[in-house]
Amino acid sequence: MREQLCPAVRAAGEPHVQLSGLGKRYPDVTALQDLTLTVHRGEFFSLLGPSGCGKTTTLRLVAGLDCLSAGTIIIDDVLVSSPTYFMPPEKRGVGIVFQDYALFPHMTVFENVAFGLYGRPKAVIAKRVGELLTLVGLTTAGQKYPHEMSGGQKQRVALARALAPEPKVMLLDEPFSNLDAELRGALRSETKQILRYIGTTVILVTHDQEEAFSLSDRVGLLNEGKLEQVDTPYNIYHHPASRFVADFVGRADYLPARVEGGTVISALGNFTLSGPAQCADNSVDLLIRPDDVAIAADTFGTAIISDVRFLGAHALYTLHLDDGSVLHSQGLSAHLLPVCTRVVVTVNMRHTVVFPRSPLA
Ligand code: ATP
Repeated sequence: MREQLCPAVRAAGEPHVQLSGLGKRYPDVTALQDLTLTVHRGEFFSLLGPSGCGKTTTLRLVAGLDCLSAGTIIIDDVLVSSPTYFMPPEKRGVGIVFQDYALFPHMTVFENVAFGLYGRPKAVIAKRVGELLTLVGLTTAGQKYPHEMSGGQKQRVALARALAPEPKVMLLDEPFSNLDAELRGALRSETKQILRYIGTTVILVTHDQEEAFSLSDRVGLLNEGKLEQVDTPYNIYHHPASRFVADFVGRADYLPARVEGGTVISALGNFTLSGPAQCADNSVDLLIRPDDVAIAADTFGTAIISDVRFLGAHALYTLHLDDGSVLHSQGLSAHLLPVCTRVVVTVNMRHTVVFPRSPLA
């Protein structure tokens, strides 16, 4: 049944969850500062960032598990939180799935999923729980207890339990991080398919760039309680707004360069600038991703391979250029070049991104 799921029709661009000037202070730390963000109806949005940047705090504020220090939260055009107003979590129409599943250990799977349906007629509960267990691929598991299930199965139960009261917004707090790599990948795409089918607005928090990129319509990158960039995964990777973003979402090398007119002039060639240079003078650092860099063995080349990391389908080469710069190149691994090979380096950039020259360079 799940193979036939197709995306629900979504009202693109309609604001659903609006965070304005959000702030959260704990006695010793400011967890969030002036965070403003609109998540659209039916959107799959990810908050991405390193440990301690404020992801879970944001989710807890939206869910109503914590009070904010500044700003407002509006869901469906209704104020749910401000420093002077607090709508209880159960009235917000929000479901949440935690990293550790948080299932009730003394209840069966059926009872766990039925928990949020308390008070409804028994027949209605039985039908809804049955539908949800089918949706998450656990049709026959209703009478099992959480301790009898694998991590992936528990996470499916947690998803079904959160979906049972038909939340308008689903919050996912690192829901796949306790699973092994293979299961994580499979459950990610299953969860996405299910949530797309239902059409729920989703806010996922994760520190895993690949997870955020593969699941999301848009990603917000958080750094020390502030949003650095909100954009599509493609733009976050190819048009990072800051060095922090560039470095967080993949390997980034920087080559000293200068800007003249709309052209970036570097030791490895001249490139047309993709956007404004945003620098006071014309000295810049040019962002180069390993997938922009191609190499070929050549005794007259200007670089030497100093390290090779075999990654399966790809290999990552560390290159020492004759001018002292270090770059990385990612290529297919079928024909590996060994360490110490002299190579010619070709940079093929479709996106030329520069930042002001780092004082450390
Ligand atoms: P992780 O990925 O490690 O879960 P995170 O991005 O979700 O991190 P938060 O849990 O939101 O980060 O924490 C943001 C900051 O607020 C951290 O400095 C954290 O230590 C602090 N913090 C979070 N909860 C509390 C609390 N209840 N009391 C005091 N400080 C807290």
